Amino acid sequence: MSARPRPVVVGSGLAGLTTAAGLADHGCLLVTAGSLTEGAASMWAQGGIAAAVGPGDSPALHAQDTLVAGAYAGDPATIARITSAAPGVIEALVAAGVPFDRDGAGELALGLEGGHSRHRIVHAGDHSGATVTSTLGRLVAALPGVEVLERHTTVCLVAGASGEVAGLVVRDASGAERVLETDAIVLATGGLGGLFPHTTNPRTALGQGVALAARAGARTDDLHLVQFHPTGLDVGRDPMPLLTEALRGAGAVLLADGRRFVDELQPRDVVAAAVWAQLQQGRSVVLDARSVPDVATRFPSVAELCRESGLDVAADLLPVRPTVHYAMGGVTVDARSRTSVPGLWAVGEVSRTGLHGANRLASNSLLEAVVTGRAAAQDVLGDPARVVGWSAVPAPEVASVVPSERYASRRGSPSLADVRSLLGEACGVLRDGPTLRSAVEQLDPHTGDDVAYAAWLVARSALAHPHSIGAHRRTDDPAVREEIPA
Ligand SMILES: Cc1cc2nc3c(=O)[nH]c(=O)nc-3n(C[C@H](O)[C@H](O)[C@H](O)COP(=O)(O)OP(=O)(O)OC[C@H]3O[C@@H](n4cnc5c(N)ncnc54)[C@H](O)[C@@H]3O)c2cc1C
Repeated sequence: MSARPRPVVVGSGLAGLTTAAGLADHGCLLVTAGSLTEGAASMWAQGGIAAAVGPGDSPALHAQDTLVAGAYAGDPATIARITSAAPGVIEALVAAGVPFDRDGAGELALGLEGGHSRHRIVHAGDHSGATVTSTLGRLVAALPGVEVLERHTTVCLVAGASGEVAGLVVRDASGAERVLETDAIVLATGGLGGLFPHTTNPRTALGQGVALAARAGARTDDLHLVQFHPTGLDVGRDPMPLLTEALRGAGAVLLADGRRFVDELQPRDVVAAAVWAQLQQGRSVVLDARSVPDVATRFPSVAELCRESGLDVAADLLPVRPTVHYAMGGVTVDARSRTSVPGLWAVGEVSRTGLHGANRLASNSLLEAVVTGRAAAQDVLGDPARVVGWSAVPAPEVASVVPSERYASRRGSPSLADVRSLLGEACGVLRDGPTLRSAVEQLDPHTGDDVAYAAWLVARSALAHPHSIGAHRRTDDPAVREEIPA
């Protein structure tokens, strides 16, 4: 009797590592594009993880803040489920050895971020993501039940006779491809900010998970809902360094051609729209932090970022522009992280759970990565027949079940630079129907590779939603025209 294949987790950020750890007792393969934690946005998270663990706080308050930040477009049941799980997530991470910051009494030190009505950001300095992710990375690397296949990019999913998952094709650094047979794949491939010309995301965050899933027939939602951070440091670096909003909280002001033009403490999407409008009118926008007392010592990471670019945070005006930061949409999943394709799960930023609605509340995404990763592992294990061993088979044997016209390599696909430029113009902070329509036409999904296809899905979703909500602002929506300052 031949062994059934092991489940495969694709991606090793916080969501993939959590899933793999949950599957370890039964065995799984973790396939990832770089080394274990390389190329993961999880390593870059600064703020921390939101959880109602402080006095006077509750999951219900956390849920309410999440709903409000998401413009009431989030799914209340999902929000309640994930915010309720948060205290247990922190407990589990502490038990796994994550050294979160503590106060003098030994209690978890809790930060406050925009949109949160309580101090509830559990953190480790301003490098929370790296601390959590590398701790879990070390733990997973030591688990005998997890085999890690590094430097292998998943380039397509293989469909079985009835459209269910039958395997995946992976490509190594030399370009060689092989097919891995499995009937359970968990996509943990992260976000899609790299499709845009200005982003804080790792360069590898190209929405490939969304493309893989959508080509396999999985439902996606809310791809037009992309969060822009208003103050990326605009010094030609890719990805863009972030100037934290805490700077504005401390008194830094935004100037366009020397004049203030917006209340800097409004929500991220409002400030981003105001900055965008100024840039579109040809003005140069800067953040002036010179009057913030002791700015360089209070914000050492920012001071260092500025220094690396030849700027002095205490003396110079800092050029800024909005930068793509987070994808609220993705592959649609249920509470078990199941997609609409049998045998395919999605976890972390690539998934669309309904937690974020039309705008993500700060520090909710690492939380979502852990909760969705755990849910997927539990659900995969719920089918005991599924988790025993995996096998690699030569590509040609399985290639016949790959619908060739869907997965054929794409000649004549636009370059990444062209895709970024198109999406930057059409799907920026302010969008309009004609520009979106033109982008959708140019990103023809029949000729594009996964990058062009993912971009097409984003642009098509933006075109299909003429009304503005949260981070999605259509200038052909009269409500938005009135809101933008001249
Ligand atoms: C600068 C910055 C600061 C942030 N700060 C915070 C914060 O303070 N709090 C918070 O909650 N969130 C924060 N976020 C968001 C948060 O970091 C992400 O949403 C979260 O880490 C996503 O985790 P993930 O595991 O889904 O994806 P990632 O951590 O991005 O991991 C994706 C993995 O998939 C791999 N991969 C991708 N495509 C393929 C493929 N085709 N084949 C194989 N492997 C593939 C990648 O190599 C990587 O290992 C921040 C994001 C950024 C960019």
